[in-house]
Amino acid sequence: LEANFSVIRNEEGPVNGLITVLHDVTEQEKIERERREFVANVSHELRTPLTTMRSYLEALEDGAMEDENLGPRFLKVTQNETERMIRLVNDLLQLSKMDSNDLQLTFETTDIGELLRQIAERFEMITKDKNIEFSKEIPMHSVYVNMDKDKMTQVFDNIISNAVKYSPDGGMITIQMITRSKAVDIEITDEGVGIPKENQAKIFDRFYRVDKARARNLGGTGLGLAIAKELVQSHGGYITVNSEWRKGTTISVTLPYTVNKKAGVFE
Ligand code: ADP
Repeated sequence: LEANFSVIRNEEGPVNGLITVLHDVTEQEKIERERREFVANVSHELRTPLTTMRSYLEALEDGAMEDENLGPRFLKVTQNETERMIRLVNDLLQLSKMDSNDLQLTFETTDIGELLRQIAERFEMITKDKNIEFSKEIPMHSVYVNMDKDKMTQVFDNIISNAVKYSPDGGMITIQMITRSKAVDIEITDEGVGIPKENQAKIFDRFYRVDKARARNLGGTGLGLAIAKELVQSHGGYITVNSEWRKGTTISVTLPYTVNKKAGVFE
């Protein structure tokens, strides 16, 4: 416990200054606990693909390589696991840059509707086998937002690829853009598995997944939305979730037209 606390009291009144000290200590403990959990998570996330790869490589060495069926299949598994580790390490590097305020953002005036149409088109191409239908409710007139285009593309890619991942075959994904007076809302809605109410607040936490096994099988790192949240915040915006279990999910991103970098709030 803190040793050098001071007792704050009004004249002859009651003691009312202890809570602040206790609060500081628990805050410190919380940071330390989160750091330990983070290291444990990283280790676990790296060990899982590594142990998978080891057993597949052993099987290949023990003869699966000569089997014309198993050989290529097992190699594919080790390839996929390698790809996932690369994604994980890249995500970790990006988070660590953001943590040390080292991430360079290059702001440029961008037609957000045009950007969303391009992203939607790309997803329409790559999700053909899943028969996902994209509904674009994006106004045709130009709406400009001051943003780092690559980083915001990464944010929307992550949200839309989650929507695809958790959607059934033939599901509909709606990309809606709503202009307001000082900011624009971008809402991505799917008809997928949904997220139970009690888990919703946590999906922006690092490594948090509602269904760990399922999310891992789908190739996720559990860091996508944590990165998205920080990137949106560094644009002076915010990201929220609205979802119903088994019905679908909406992720909303609100971005100010221009970022007031000093205050980090809407101009
Ligand atoms: P992951 O790499 O696991 O997708 P994210 O940070 O992108 O990690 O998402 C965190 C978790 O939030 C996911 O594992 C999943 O449980 C949940 N989630 C995110 N988007 C959706 C969605 N559209 N539908 C259902 N669950 C979702």
